Amino acid sequence: MENLNILNGILHNNETWALDMKEHSASVLEENGKGQSPQVLWIGCADSRVPPGLITESKPGSIFVHRNIANVVEKEDESLNSVLEYALFYLKVKLVVVCGHYDCGGVKAALSGDNFTPYINKWIAPIHNELQSLQKVNPTHEELIEAHTKNQLAKLTKHPIAQKAKEDNSALEFVGLVYDPASGKLKKI
Ligand SMILES: [Zn+2]
Repeated sequence: MENLNILNGILHNNETWALDMKEHSASVLEENGKGQSPQVLWIGCADSRVPPGLITESKPGSIFVHRNIANVVEKEDESLNSVLEYALFYLKVKLVVVCGHYDCGGVKAALSGDNFTPYINKWIAPIHNELQSLQKVNPTHEELIEAHTKNQLAKLTKHPIAQKAKEDNSALEFVGLVYDPASGKLKKI
């Protein structure tokens, strides 16, 4: 029963939203009906507090999104790789954002050294390894999150798909952002 209420809430809110869009932003729906040409690819965390479109007040159609636990960039990740190929070679986005966030459960889990379930253990293992040297100097949580985000950005800029896209379009930019769920603010790192 509770789940049905959650679903009804989702559908009800969507109806209200669609009506509001029709009334105030009909041109956005009209454009979206024809296709998409987003300028931004956003690689972010799956965390429910960091919805890229909402926190940047972006209209539907503006941001192509890939999210996973702890905004990890791994060149063996086929889901990420297909997103990169599509966003960079077909949609030809102009800006790629890697967005981390404070209080990231994935990063905290990786640093805890605790044993979770198999897929989570496998997914977060690289985070732990990448931050190991920094951990020796007693960093703050904020410093760890920023370092983690910079690590993912560095891996992205070295990624073969990203490098090929940069060769084709030297104006293509890659940036790292960190979001603070407690203030709602983004900052460039
Ligand atoms: Zn997170």
